[in-house]
Amino acid sequence: MATEYITITRKIEVYLHRHGDSDEAKQRYQQEWQIWHDINDNLYKAANRIVSHCFFNDAYEFRLRLHSPRFAEIEKALKHSKKNKLSDDEVKALKAERQELYKSFKQQRLAFLRGGATEGANPEQNSTYKVISDEFGDIIPSDILTCLNQNIASVYKAYSKEVQFGDRTIPNYKKGIPAPFSIKAGGALLLKKREDGSIYVRMPKGLEWDLVFGRDRSNNREIVERILSGQYDAGNSSIQQAKNGKCFLLLIVKIPKSNIALNKDRVVGVDLGINIPLYVALNDNEYGGMGIGSREQFLKMRMRMSAQKRELQRNLRHSTNGGHGRKQKLQALERLEGKERNWVHLQNHIFSKSVIEFAQKHNAGVIQMERLKGYGKDANGEVREEAKFLTRYWSYFKLQTMIEYKANAAGIEIRYIDPYHTSQTCSFCGHYEKGQRISQSTFICQNPECKQGKGKQKSDGTFEGINADWNAARNIALSEQYVDKKKK
Ligand SMILES: [Zn+2]
Repeated sequence: MATEYITITRKIEVYLHRHGDSDEAKQRYQQEWQIWHDINDNLYKAANRIVSHCFFNDAYEFRLRLHSPRFAEIEKALKHSKKNKLSDDEVKALKAERQELYKSFKQQRLAFLRGGATEGANPEQNSTYKVISDEFGDIIPSDILTCLNQNIASVYKAYSKEVQFGDRTIPNYKKGIPAPFSIKAGGALLLKKREDGSIYVRMPKGLEWDLVFGRDRSNNREIVERILSGQYDAGNSSIQQAKNGKCFLLLIVKIPKSNIALNKDRVVGVDLGINIPLYVALNDNEYGGMGIGSREQFLKMRMRMSAQKRELQRNLRHSTNGGHGRKQKLQALERLEGKERNWVHLQNHIFSKSVIEFAQKHNAGVIQMERLKGYGKDANGEVREEAKFLTRYWSYFKLQTMIEYKANAAGIEIRYIDPYHTSQTCSFCGHYEKGQRISQSTFICQNPECKQGKGKQKSDGTFEGINADWNAARNIALSEQYVDKKKK
């Protein structure tokens, strides 16, 4: 079965990319801007040409009917068939003959569109394409013309009947119409991410448009990330310049319709980790849990970035002469900070994606998380020592928001629960006692009756314990201490 899609359009501000500060780059920018300017200045004219010729092609066939004496005779005879007392067979024969004439007019039309040739695919669109490529081919890239030609032809087709019956006239395009282009070239997506995390879309003639998300209330970044990860598909999109000069990408997003029935009784608990960034577990015992992300890798990256930052800041303090060198260092610092933000964003994206994939894999209809406000605090409102380290470096709020957003799109419900005692309670028997989490990674239930909360028994009679993060994640999955949606 072919995938069914919901298609939406997202409007995202874009800037023509600057390839650096060198004179060469500046020149390139100016040239590219001129290319865009020329496209924008001529595109609407090409659109008007296309629609005029669509109409002209229809009108040609209409004229053929008008100039056929036999066609007029048949129409007249059929119109007065009762008065002329025509038999059913005679009416049938006339209608069949009229049908043949229609066919012949159609063929003449196609031959005309092909310039006399009897063969040739897609003569309708080729004929209008030829008109515009002759006139605008030097200015507007052929891919844009091809897309424009298709778009205008389908718009025209949608109401060609109304035009034919005189209910409306052909549309009139004005400067500033969107410039459509293929989003894929030979199967490769032209929406790309650079190494520094910035996202751009590549238009014909090498024009790169940087996507700007700003405050991103509509979560455009998330949608673009999903296209990049292959979760969503993209359709041919366009760039449009508004009257105020701002440019926008009108991104066509194809979202596959999800038709999986999720189990509302199966809950994924997400522990915002202490030992590792995230741990997920299910409320029913059948399946294990999963750790997401590596604490070591996370810390290493974090350390490397702060070392680079310290170095730059130190250099800045020592460059007392000011001027160009200082400016460059400041810029380098800004770039580094941008890189850091992008890295955190990317990590959050990967983490949240893994959570959703875990839920989907197990067909879970609900994801439960601890309410952020209060996270890591013990009964006295003190932040747990082990939690301090990670919370300092991580935006859990953003991570939870991302999980929430992705869950929404996947039809999974999100619930927040009170984090009280989730790491100190046994997820098997419910026994709470301080000190059961004997280390960051190990939990041993102190209830004498409880077996599962202790893990394997060792030869000396003591217990191995269970994974403390898994235990906490299970408690979160099992909790019914629901609280309001998190507050910032
Ligand atoms: Zn227990």
